[in-house]
Amino acid sequence: MRRSLVVGNWKMNGTLASSELLAKGIIAGLDSNNADIAICVPYVYLPCVSELVKGTALALGSQNIADKSTGAFTGEISATMLREFNCKYALVGHSERRTFYGDTNESVAARFSQAQQQNIIPILCVGETLEQREQNQTFEVINDQLDAVINLVGVAAFNSAVIAYEPVWAIGTGKTASDEQAQEVHYYIRQYMAAKDQVIADKIQILYGGSAKPDNAKGLFAMPDIDGGLIGGASLDAESFLKIFHSI
Ligand code: PEP
Repeated sequence: MRRSLVVGNWKMNGTLASSELLAKGIIAGLDSNNADIAICVPYVYLPCVSELVKGTALALGSQNIADKSTGAFTGEISATMLREFNCKYALVGHSERRTFYGDTNESVAARFSQAQQQNIIPILCVGETLEQREQNQTFEVINDQLDAVINLVGVAAFNSAVIAYEPVWAIGTGKTASDEQAQEVHYYIRQYMAAKDQVIADKIQILYGGSAKPDNAKGLFAMPDIDGGLIGGASLDAESFLKIFHSI
């Protein structure tokens, strides 16, 4: 039986004060739910939030990670640096990084690899744009996104990784994939992995992301191949994030 996981992605929101309040609000509402929970906060708030989550069930993650280990790469943050602030997870290949900052399938694979070299669990984000969906390219796009990582690090690396299916057309748009639409792609991803390694396919957590909210989370999480969620907008409010977590 796979453990579920709910991850908040705060994106570029908040202040130091509001981040502290939000983290404290989430911690205050945690209970012994049989699932895992994490927040991916802006880099500069990692030191503060890292202190707050110590000894709690709330895990910490980053929203990106460098594709190199160290050196003259101005503006980048390495896996070693993130490890110092107890990041358990790192998002890699979020569609906003792919769309606005030029992340390619190959650079995402390198970020995935860097994370694992420091025992950080990469959360590999995959998903199609609306145009790709309309042209029936969803599965092809996802194959390419997965293959780039598998080609670099091998399928065994997915023993310690999470996949997030995030249809780009559903991120921040208020348009959630229906339970069935999401399940269809989650099932596809699991079968794709199963063709390479059945054991990994059975155990890997595949999260859904894209306008998940307290009122639609339960239906999504009830789907057999959806193991939790990557939550953007609704993770900026402790109450709604906790409601989503408690929908597991
Ligand atoms: C995300 O940022 O990964 C995301 C799913 O955002 P939202 O929930 O706001 O669509």
